[in-house]
Amino acid sequence: MYQEVHTDNIPLRAHAPEVAELLRIFALEQPGPGGARHETLLARLMPDYGEELMVIAPTGDGDYEYTHYGREITRYIGGSRLGDRISTMTPQVAKFTRACYDRALADGRPTYTVHRSLKTMRVALWERLILPTTAEDGRRFLIVFSRPLQFREELLTTVLDTSPSGIVAIRVQRDEDGNVDSAIIITANQRAAAIGGVSDNLHDQELRQALPFLADPTIWRRCVYAIELRRADLIETSFERDGRAVWLQIALAPLGDGLVLTITDVSELMIANQTLQSRAATLALEIGRERATRRALSQEIGQREEREKELRRLAETDPLTALLNRRSFIEKANQAIEASEAERQATSLIIIDLDHFKAVNDSHGHPAGDAVIRAFADLLLGSLRSPRDLVSRFGGEEFAVFLPNCPRQCALAAAETIKQALAGRDLPVSETLALNVSASFGVATRRQGESLTQCIERADRALYRAKHEGRNRICEAEDPVSVAA
Ligand code: GH3
Ligand code: MG
Ligand code: MG
Repeated sequence: MYQEVHTDNIPLRAHAPEVAELLRIFALEQPGPGGARHETLLARLMPDYGEELMVIAPTGDGDYEYTHYGREITRYIGGSRLGDRISTMTPQVAKFTRACYDRALADGRPTYTVHRSLKTMRVALWERLILPTTAEDGRRFLIVFSRPLQFREELLTTVLDTSPSGIVAIRVQRDEDGNVDSAIIITANQRAAAIGGVSDNLHDQELRQALPFLADPTIWRRCVYAIELRRADLIETSFERDGRAVWLQIALAPLGDGLVLTITDVSELMIANQTLQSRAATLALEIGRERATRRALSQEIGQREEREKELRRLAETDPLTALLNRRSFIEKANQAIEASEAERQATSLIIIDLDHFKAVNDSHGHPAGDAVIRAFADLLLGSLRSPRDLVSRFGGEEFAVFLPNCPRQCALAAAETIKQALAGRDLPVSETLALNVSASFGVATRRQGESLTQCIERADRALYRAKHEGRNRICEAEDPVSVAA
């Protein structure tokens, strides 16, 4: 059983404001060890507080009896206990009450108590102020102020006043056939009026007139369903207030022959939600655009890379034969030499010049000469040993072949292969004409530390010798050291 007993700081603990006043009056009596003087205190208190007072006298046998029982207390209890003894109460309450009274009599001091009533249905907690007194004839008494704690009602009021939601309780009015006709607001908090945009008190007004957003036929029908089926419901709706859309969430809970409506303004949430949604849409659009831009860009980059590759290829190649031109041949051969030096490998060079080419032009025309040059280029490519070999049209009817990882014998063999191939085949000029041409070869194998230019010069001199010695032959460059010697 819930109980509290205090003799200190009573006004602070008491719920009823009257308790402090009663204590003040008690103190005015200048109480002694036996408490206040009974007759005078009673005379002072009865006119104002009598309805909530009990006067109790010890019976001498450990019990107490009521000699006064206030009307207000009678109303709450549902009957008067005047003349009754405390021992007739519920044993648990009787025991607590007797202990409190014993103590107040012994101390001669006011005692404040709170306890849970076990019988009374309407009241859960009672607070009491027990004032001990002594009569002129020496008899002891207790004057007890007793009041139910209006805790629940206050709790409800507090909740209603502080709720961020509008709360409206209604009772319905029915027509002769028992159908719901209208609804009257029996309780509403301030917030409900604020949400509805009305300033006046909503009490006793017709629901749909007081809060117009509830007059919407669909919403009203759902309210009626909730009442008739005694079933909770949740409604979302919006209405215009001062030119702005207000979004509401309305929870319906049946109560008696009516409803409690809890109305929450969710406009800010809705606006935040809509803002978020529109931002998400904008973002998706931007992402889509960015993707498209990126795709177009990467296509553009790809095309540009292709074009650059093509330009580079064109810059490196001879337009007539598609062989490397002289400039790119020298560049690539130099790179190959650098690599071969790191790998300590021999490299060789063959320079080839077609014999008596002027005669080809003279006899068959310049285009026929071009065709021969092209056909010889194909033959050269077909006679290569490895894809790392470099073939160039040096100019006119002069060609160069660079052979990495190819020492002297290998280079001479390569020149021989080309010479044989040329000898064994007529070069096609047109559909009806093919010509047999010969060529002269100068072969040089690169010496340690020798530059490509020096190597080319040696090969050139060897070629010159081949021409000089009668053409259609291979001459090997002499060792520059032996020449010097
Ligand atoms: P040699 O055996 O001494 O090399 O005699 P050659 O006639 O081949 O030598 P020369 O250097 O006297 O003549 C080369 C000729 O090649 C001259 C030129 O008209 C011709 N020529 C150079 N470039 C081209 C070309 O691109 N196309 C054609 N059709 N002829 C070319
Ligand atoms: Mg020539
Ligand atoms: Mg020439």
